Amino acid sequence: MIKYKSAEEIELMRESAQLVSKTLGMLAPLLVPGAIPLELDKKAEEFIRDHGGIPGFLGMYDFPNTLCMSPNAQVVHGIPGKTPLQEGDIMSVDCGVLMNGFYGDHAYTFPIGDVDADTARLLEDTKASLYAGIREVKAGNRVGDIGAAIQEYTESRGYGVVRELVGHGLGKQMHEEPQVPNYGKRGRGKKIQEGLVIAIEPMINLGTQRIKQLPDGWTILTADGKNSAHFEHDVAVVNGQPEILSTFQYIYDALGMEPAEYEKL
Ligand code: MG
Ligand code: MG
Repeated sequence: MIKYKSAEEIELMRESAQLVSKTLGMLAPLLVPGAIPLELDKKAEEFIRDHGGIPGFLGMYDFPNTLCMSPNAQVVHGIPGKTPLQEGDIMSVDCGVLMNGFYGDHAYTFPIGDVDADTARLLEDTKASLYAGIREVKAGNRVGDIGAAIQEYTESRGYGVVRELVGHGLGKQMHEEPQVPNYGKRGRGKKIQEGLVIAIEPMINLGTQRIKQLPDGWTILTADGKNSAHFEHDVAVVNGQPEILSTFQYIYDALGMEPAEYEKL
């Protein structure tokens, strides 16, 4: 059953989402060659607790860390380790927070120094596909419209869309109904209505859509070893229109970047 949120609940959820956003902004300038993922994970945990939140992933389904850190061919659910980041890597950082009784959950894939042209294009196109999906989050549309928009945007550019992992409803639970796939057919799936809050999170591969899992039981990686990108926002339906509760602005401020044109809804 989908749990639709009141205006008051959406305001509380915005605070949870924004704490994730601030955490990603705090990490952004630290994601450089030589950085140790496990140390960044500890910093993130401290930052979240200092700001009145609880790490949302830590201990959930027995996940051992605050952040999912998934470099290069890892798609999602990577466990922060001690291998230093290298120039040319990419790193998906996914973070969850529990605050005010509600979860925030969002993610950004960072280039580490300079990355090759195909990978740079993958990052930009995956982020753009997230916004193509967000634009469909309108009262009267259906959940299938979101996935269809993401799939059309990315497959037309030659990428593989991961099928096995999907976005989700968000609220007092990290994973609520409905599931929000990154592929689909227009006009299919649950109707979108006022108070729906979902996490949309395209996972897009440079090569094949197929994935495999490491023996650690967590890490998902591409079957062909090519790079994969992941961007995630928390989105509410307010006055029938999409409202993004999370923001990349803290990342942009930290890195001296401007939002792209497509980010203006
Ligand atoms: Mg999520
Ligand atoms: Mg996430």
